[in-house]
Amino acid sequence: MKSIAIDGPSGAGKSTIAKILSKQLGFIYLDTGALYRSISYKLLNMNVDINNHILLEDILSTTKIDIKFINNCQKIYIDDIDISDNIRKPEISMAASKFSAIDSVRKYLFKKQVDISKKNNIIMDGRDIGTIILPNADLKIFLTADLDDRANRRYKELKKNGMNIKLEDVKRDMENRDKNDSTRKMSPLTIAEDAVVIDTTGYSLEKTLDVVSIIIKGRF
Ligand code: C5P
Repeated sequence: MKSIAIDGPSGAGKSTIAKILSKQLGFIYLDTGALYRSISYKLLNMNVDINNHILLEDILSTTKIDIKFINNCQKIYIDDIDISDNIRKPEISMAASKFSAIDSVRKYLFKKQVDISKKNNIIMDGRDIGTIILPNADLKIFLTADLDDRANRRYKELKKNGMNIKLEDVKRDMENRDKNDSTRKMSPLTIAEDAVVIDTTGYSLEKTLDVVSIIIKGRF
């Protein structure tokens, strides 16, 4: 099976690029952030104390997570309920950033991600794909951009989806998440040694896509 790992901080455009590429290449696209968001959605709704690791492990051991790909669109079911439309709110982003630092949460999702990658040609995006989940990926890309650019893009995306939100709040949350994600002990956001780093500051989506496509053509 062929695999492409795309990592980087939030708002770098990973999922937009991965979605388009997966269609072009006929690969499955797995948005791993959505997995962390989904588990965190359940834990947040249950009001679980993040420091109660025994309770967390207990809940995870009885939590069912299913991923379905319908028309190349990823749907996530937690305990048989499709929660895909409930995980994009800023409070879920922050919760995901906190719960994803917990050992048992990462272990729970590790197997799921690896299992899917063994059965499909796949593009996965996240924070630890090239370093932990797919260390032997055929291509590893680290997509980044400066904070203002990323916050602006995310702000426009959330506005387009009808969310009432301020740019400064988006930027602050993003900064906090980046800090959590890159300083945590378990699988922090880092650049894999063999990753191609692309800084998309000032780039349009088309330009980013062109750059990534050239790299892919050279590699496959
Ligand atoms: O990619 P997205 O912004 O949807 O991810 C939400 C959060 O999930 C991230 O801020 C990060 O804390 C966590 N995450 C992770 N590892 C991944 C993907 C996401 O820790 N592979």
